[in-house]
Amino acid sequence: MTKTASQPLFETVAFIGMGLIGSSMARRIKRDGLANKITCAVRSEATRDRVLELGIADEAYCDIKDAVGDADLVMICAPVGANETIGAQLTGALKKGAIVSDVGSVKQSVIRDIAPHLDEGVHFVPGHPLAGTEHSGPDSGFPELFEERWCILTPIPGESDAAKEKVKALWEACGMYVECMDADHHDRILGITSHLPHLIAYTIVGTATDLEDALRQEVIKFSATGFRDFTRIAASDPTMWRDVFLNNREAVLEVLGRFQEDLMALQRAIRWGEGEKLFDLFTRTREIRRGIVDAGQYFTNFSAEGESRQSDEKGKKKTTE
Ligand code: NAP
Repeated sequence: MTKTASQPLFETVAFIGMGLIGSSMARRIKRDGLANKITCAVRSEATRDRVLELGIADEAYCDIKDAVGDADLVMICAPVGANETIGAQLTGALKKGAIVSDVGSVKQSVIRDIAPHLDEGVHFVPGHPLAGTEHSGPDSGFPELFEERWCILTPIPGESDAAKEKVKALWEACGMYVECMDADHHDRILGITSHLPHLIAYTIVGTATDLEDALRQEVIKFSATGFRDFTRIAASDPTMWRDVFLNNREAVLEVLGRFQEDLMALQRAIRWGEGEKLFDLFTRTREIRRGIVDAGQYFTNFSAEGESRQSDEKGKKKTTE
């Protein structure tokens, strides 16, 4: 679904944050001429210098206000825990008619932290591309990351339809399928499909790490795909995931409660030798997997934010959240 824009969709796009997601988007925009100019703001001078060295932005700053003044689109690509600080710096800094969007993995908290800071006449279209890897920083991005993945937009009621359509067009030009839903619905869905699996992976790898030394060495040595794939997920960025759990607290706690109950039921079935119960569950889950494959979400390898689908030419694995 590679699309090349016949003309730029935006004059200037400003990124706040140029890690995996921001730099992948910037590379795609540059490659396909989707904007005439890219600026960005990052936190550290080291990242600013690296972005310029890589040539993925025309201008890079450490001060947000320097990056966003001329932007038609401001794309927030920093960890969601930084949003309150970022939002405060957007007040009075944007031109009238500018669109602010984001890529955060949680949507209700992003709206809570960004929307109150935006001036009248600035449009806000929150979004979340369900694509990623376990790598971070400006070097880790690649323009094909979003290809044939879903992007969820969570438009704010009463907000401009035209702004939503422009953000949608940009994601489509990046190769994504776009769907809109409520922020609350998004957070509950991602709680089960992405956040809980990450929590489980962090726990399993943490448990293995805490084993006595001899046993731990054997776990590493004999880690077949099951455990190895969990370690890949558990290698995901600690700042990003700390912020996800703190900002999607309710949905994650609710789904975690249900998961614990189901786990207890399985524990009981094993203890009492209830083979039929185990068999029935495993049969049902197998059907779900087959349903996913039939629906076209064909995966080859369980990994960082869900399951990876393919490697690009550089061997980078793409994942969904
Ligand atoms: P990343 O690779 O760690 O990059 C984060 C970027 O944000 C860095 O450029 C960092 O700058 C910058 N930053 C951090 N705090 C900042 C602040 N206060 N002000 C300005 N810039 C700041 O992160 P990522 O994986 O691209 O994730 C970015 C966002 O995308 C997160 O909200 C995440 O939830 C969402 N997301 C991630 C994935 C994924 O698989 N990784 C998938 C979908 C959505 P420095 O380098 O200077 O610190």
